[in-house]
Amino acid sequence: MEFIPAGEIIGAAHQVRTVSIKYSPLLPDGEYKFVDTYCADPECDCRKTMIEVLHNRKLVSILNYGWESAAFYENWMGGSTEDDPMPKMHGASIDITSPNLVSADGILELFNALLDDVWIAKFKRHYHEVKAAMSRPC
Ligand SMILES: [Zn+2]
Repeated sequence: MEFIPAGEIIGAAHQVRTVSIKYSPLLPDGEYKFVDTYCADPECDCRKTMIEVLHNRKLVSILNYGWESAAFYENWMGGSTEDDPMPKMHGASIDITSPNLVSADGILELFNALLDDVWIAKFKRHYHEVKAAMSRPC
C-alpha cells in the first residue's frame, strides 16, 4: 500500500504540525514535525493516517492513527481470529516500519497530548482530499 504526504496533494495550504519541546523526560529537545500521509488507493476505505515524525528534520518515528472506533476497523477487516489477531488500528500506535530513533513511548505520549478535535478534523479532511485526488483521471 502506497502512502503519500497530504502536502503533495493539497500543496501550500497544507500545514505540517510542528512543535518544539524542551526538558521532556522521554524525548530529546528540539523541533518535532508530524507529516501526515495517506493511503493512495482510492478504492481503499482504511480511514487512517500514517504520520512521519521528524526531529530536527530527521525521520525518527512513524506512527499510525485511526480515528474511527475499534469496532469500525474490526468490521472493515472482517474481524480477528485467535490465529490471526487484528493489528491495532483504532487510536495511535507505532508502525512496524518505524525507525524508532527516539523513545516510542515518548512519541506516542507527545502525539496523544497534541491530539485534539481540530487536528482530527484535519486528518479526515486530508484523507478525503487525497482519495478524491487519486480517483480523478490523470
Ligand atoms: Zn487504505
